[in-house]
Amino acid sequence: MRSLPSLRRTDMRPSLLDRIAARDVERQQAHAVRRLRAVDARDGATLATAGRALLDFSGNDYLGLAAHPDVIAALQRAAAEHGVGSTAAHLVTGHHRLHDALQDEFADWLGQPRALLFGSGYLANLGVLQALLDAGDLCVQDRLNHACLLDGAKLAGATLRRYPHADVDAARRRLAVQAEGAALLTTDGVFSMDGDIAPLAELAQVADDAGALLYVDDAHGIGTLGPHGAGSPAACGLGPSGAPLQLATLGKALGGYGAIVAGAAVLVDELLQRARTYLFTTALPPALAAATLAAVRIARGADGDARRERLAANIARFRHGAVQLGLPLLPSSTPIQPIVLGDNATTLRASQQLDEHGLRVVAIRPPTVPEGRARLRITITAVHDDAQIDRLLDALSRLPSG
Ligand SMILES: *Cc1c(COP(=O)(O)O)cnc(C)c1O
Repeated sequence: MRSLPSLRRTDMRPSLLDRIAARDVERQQAHAVRRLRAVDARDGATLATAGRALLDFSGNDYLGLAAHPDVIAALQRAAAEHGVGSTAAHLVTGHHRLHDALQDEFADWLGQPRALLFGSGYLANLGVLQALLDAGDLCVQDRLNHACLLDGAKLAGATLRRYPHADVDAARRRLAVQAEGAALLTTDGVFSMDGDIAPLAELAQVADDAGALLYVDDAHGIGTLGPHGAGSPAACGLGPSGAPLQLATLGKALGGYGAIVAGAAVLVDELLQRARTYLFTTALPPALAAATLAAVRIARGADGDARRERLAANIARFRHGAVQLGLPLLPSSTPIQPIVLGDNATTLRASQQLDEHGLRVVAIRPPTVPEGRARLRITITAVHDDAQIDRLLDALSRLPSG
């Protein structure tokens, strides 16, 4: 029995506690309850939880940099020298030369004039849309964009118009409908729950024709796609004029935490002046910037190329095996390889069954994905080896639906 706080009841006001209780019942019935599971330890692709060792096929550490010795050493050195907290917001006294070094490295890597460090990808997207868009402006988005892009448009008070997934002509029509007000077209570079790559070259053309700004959220493309891992815009042949503003998160392929928004100087400067999620929050710990700088240097160098090769081989091995098993793969060439099972209960059962085979594959349910599109979101990394991929395939072949 959960203990409830007591609130005075009046006849006028709907009860917040009654509403919570009703939602709880609804969630139980819809198999939509989410549960935390603490990791005790990690070793390569294996994690220990509740006294068991599970092979992790749900994390986003695509290049295996989260536990890279050079990255750990950079964090430890910088923490020893500079302490842990940044002690203030960037524009107060929290901005450190290590933050500058990371921003400069990113600008160079992405071939963009300027880069700005945010606390996380979620905060960055809220800040970018709030800072650039006014009430009444138009924000056109792919229907499968990440939740924080939708939230950012709402926060800005912009008119949000979504187009069917990856439908370039529909994006063009959405932009044409409302000609007054400034317009921004935004898309995930790699879709976080589907793994496919947005048609960025075509969308850049659509944005250009409509006088709209294109903003690419490359949370999952950075480090994994394009020459030297520079991400999905580079992979689609877009330079800084085609992709004038882009997001890279530091918590996925780079194995850290935080986010960078890179682009044209006027745009990035505007974010520094106006993005509330930049202005009114404590700067990232400088040691984390130092660790990410080490991660970026690995990711864009020869070691990164080798990791991307290993990753590509693992993805190919998984897809080849999955096709032979007749599994319903999505058209994805990235580390995100979901298997859509449909309803929540079936997907939870499948996840539980994989768990019994020693594999951690999380069931992703609405509202993270559309209703009726629950899935096993399998992620493949450079750290997996052939035998581990084969273990996954073997366990999948034993699912009733497989
Ligand atoms: C993970 C993710 C984010 C949020 O980034 P965090 O740094 O985890 O807050 C934003 N956009 C997309 C597409 C993502 O997948």
